[in-house]
Amino acid sequence: MALTEAQLTHYHYMAAMFNELGYTAEHLDVKQALEMAPLVNDRILGGIHLKFGGQANPQRTVQAYAWAMQDHGGRILQNAQVTGFETAGGKVTAVVTSRGTLGCDALVIAAGPQTEGLAAQLGAFAPMAPARAEMIITEPAPLMPIGGVDGNGLYGRQTLRGNLAYGGGPHEWLDVSAAGPSARPTTPLMRNLAKRVAELLPKAEHLRVIRSWAGVIETTPDGRPILDRLKAPDNVVLASMSGVGFGLSPASGHAICDLVLEGRCTFAEIDKLGVDRFAGLSPDWRAERGWTPVAQAV
Ligand SMILES: Cc1cc2nc3c(=O)[nH]c(=O)nc-3n(C[C@H](O)[C@H](O)[C@H](O)COP(=O)(O)OP(=O)(O)OC[C@H]3O[C@@H](n4cnc5c(N)ncnc54)[C@H](O)[C@@H]3O)c2cc1C
Repeated sequence: MALTEAQLTHYHYMAAMFNELGYTAEHLDVKQALEMAPLVNDRILGGIHLKFGGQANPQRTVQAYAWAMQDHGGRILQNAQVTGFETAGGKVTAVVTSRGTLGCDALVIAAGPQTEGLAAQLGAFAPMAPARAEMIITEPAPLMPIGGVDGNGLYGRQTLRGNLAYGGGPHEWLDVSAAGPSARPTTPLMRNLAKRVAELLPKAEHLRVIRSWAGVIETTPDGRPILDRLKAPDNVVLASMSGVGFGLSPASGHAICDLVLEGRCTFAEIDKLGVDRFAGLSPDWRAERGWTPVAQAV
């Protein structure tokens, strides 16, 4: 990571925290940081090497999940909008979609930014603010020894071909309809990202941005996931990963499976991720944080 002075203090704290949790995080002086990430701005004060974590191509991973689900007998119904639910005896018994009504024994609502509206139809309060996020991809640069270099408010990686793939705030806050938002890539966020990538990695500033991709993510008021099995109807699980659902997917998938089959997570303490934590939330929480679309910001 390439850091400013303020970030360095913050990351020293983070490194100590990671080490305490049993992960290895090592401080780098300027020379060491530039050896690992030669494209980085040489005015950095140092860096932190987090010796854990990983990276994966999201498009390929999601396709692999879809194939794996089908291999296990699952069926994926695309272009079928869920518009409502049928309930009986304190349970959801069917999901009403634009392609017909489907009976169910258990229901998982993991609809990204639409999770809030669908949960509300069942009387549950799962607050979240939708926002557009975008990643830019540059032409290939010479491969750095370390591919994942964060800093300047960005997160990203260098692909094995050398392309730099970067994203990270500021968000473009949105309101979404039940029919879903349009992904609409190539937003004004792209220019902001490109500028910050050039600042972080100035030896790559001449590279052209060759593509970008965008999507709409949801952020909960405290930024933590929602993973909860409702008390009523009691066969419904709500799942939102608050904007970091890709990295969390192996663990969250396991936890969702446990909540459906066992009624509790068998491998981690997740009570703090329940919707009860939002019971006292101000109705104006989005406006209070400035998490509203620009035209409506106060
Ligand atoms: C540009 C960008 C970069 C990102 N980078 C990272 C990263 O580096 N690391 C990371 O961990 N996460 C990252 N994320 C976030 C990550 O992609 C999401 O957190 C993750 O996709 C959430 O998965 P999900 O299955 O919970 O929801 P989603 O992927 O949002 O899927 C929800 C699905 O529900 C469907 N749906 C919604 N409403 C209805 C309805 N009424 N009826 C039927 N279907 C409906 C939608 O069409 C969609 O297919 C990034 C996101 C973007 C956009």
